[in-house]
Amino acid sequence: MRRTVKAMLGLAAGVAMQVAAAQQPAQQTPQQLSPVEQRIVAEIRAHAPQALELLRQSVLINSGTMNQAGVRAVGKLFRDQFDELGFKTRWIELPSDMQRAGHLLAERRGKQGKRLLLLGHLDTVFEPGSTTPAWEPQPGPDGKVTTIKGQGVSDMKGGDVVIVEALRALQRVGALDDTRIAVMLTGDEEEAGNPKSISRGDMVDIAKRSDVALSFEGSITGKDGMAAATVGRRSTAFFELEVKGKQAHSMGVFGPGGYGAVYEAARILDAFRQQVVEPGLTFNPGVILGGTEVSFDDEHSRGTAFGKTNVIANTVTVKGDLRYLDYGQRDRAQARMREIVARSLPGASAAINFRDSYPPMAVTPGNLKVLEQYSRASQDAGLGPIGMVPPESRGAGDIQFAAPYVDSLDGLGASGGGAHSPNESLEVASIERSAIRAAILIYRLTRQD
Ligand SMILES: [Zn+2]
Repeated sequence: MRRTVKAMLGLAAGVAMQVAAAQQPAQQTPQQLSPVEQRIVAEIRAHAPQALELLRQSVLINSGTMNQAGVRAVGKLFRDQFDELGFKTRWIELPSDMQRAGHLLAERRGKQGKRLLLLGHLDTVFEPGSTTPAWEPQPGPDGKVTTIKGQGVSDMKGGDVVIVEALRALQRVGALDDTRIAVMLTGDEEEAGNPKSISRGDMVDIAKRSDVALSFEGSITGKDGMAAATVGRRSTAFFELEVKGKQAHSMGVFGPGGYGAVYEAARILDAFRQQVVEPGLTFNPGVILGGTEVSFDDEHSRGTAFGKTNVIANTVTVKGDLRYLDYGQRDRAQARMREIVARSLPGASAAINFRDSYPPMAVTPGNLKVLEQYSRASQDAGLGPIGMVPPESRGAGDIQFAAPYVDSLDGLGASGGGAHSPNESLEVASIERSAIRAAILIYRLTRQD
């Protein structure tokens, strides 16, 4: 594994981010599970039917992000589980004008081993009235249900159940005693409340007093059939380009009239595309409006433009996103973009503004070490090695708020497909598999200094 980790560190520096598929970790020789670890596995296997029933109950409660009562009800269901396991639980309220339900926090404050932060979310993208079926078991040819379609089955109530089942098995064998574990299930992951400094303030505080953060978003299986986890996720940020030109008769456009705002905007965007190029960096102009009168409504992402073919346009607005691997890459990209913006065509000028949203989860040596331990736990349990998902292939997630402060790994949840779509599905057996991997990892981390 050491060689692979070293090779990956090039990625951390943002130099050679050319990862096409899930990275293969070097095969490790599986060790035997200790007797306690074997009992943990047996507990998880024995509890599989109850795990599926917990998932069913949680999925049948609609918890679209805006359905605050539903999110709270799912929170109550999971809170009862953590209470039963001896965690101290509380509901974190958010300011009412944020219009989000809040978060569930469950904690054990012992003295032993690494301090863990486990992350999940209670909300889904499916609001009340969604036409997506809530819970649809899919029997195979032999009548056995191997897949379940439904609202939030894999994103991510399946992952929440994996957390509960892993901790339940640890509790049954007495392995939770004196551990330091915080579980945070957020109520607004799919559309985090603003400002994020408040909606994610508690998460950041807990991350600062933790050693390792594990997030249970859906686990990914690569084309080669190997499971893969996430050691990095790109930031989400936004840019806004405002371009001005001189309004004049179109016949003067290449001369005294100046080029106008539309040519200037086209020059800038094309120069961005051709000159601001780095592996792992993308920016996408999502909407553009130009003419002599332009208005844009940010809340609804919609606008209007007025202009005439015989008039040089005097204004253009462009809104886009910007995704980067780490702050160094952000700063280089923004500096390059500002230079390009400043090289105005005659008669035009422009200004660009940037706004950060999710911080990047950079690929750090610490994250790779957690992946290595996770992969070893999986192999020791006979469940195969775990590869690495390329950071640029995942969208934003809650773990990014914790990642700047702790070693972090994401993708420990259940496997499925079609997240956010009417075809969202879950592979039933993956709950047990992921719970076993997570429980062994948590057991070992909570016994390390
Ligand atoms: Zn999710």
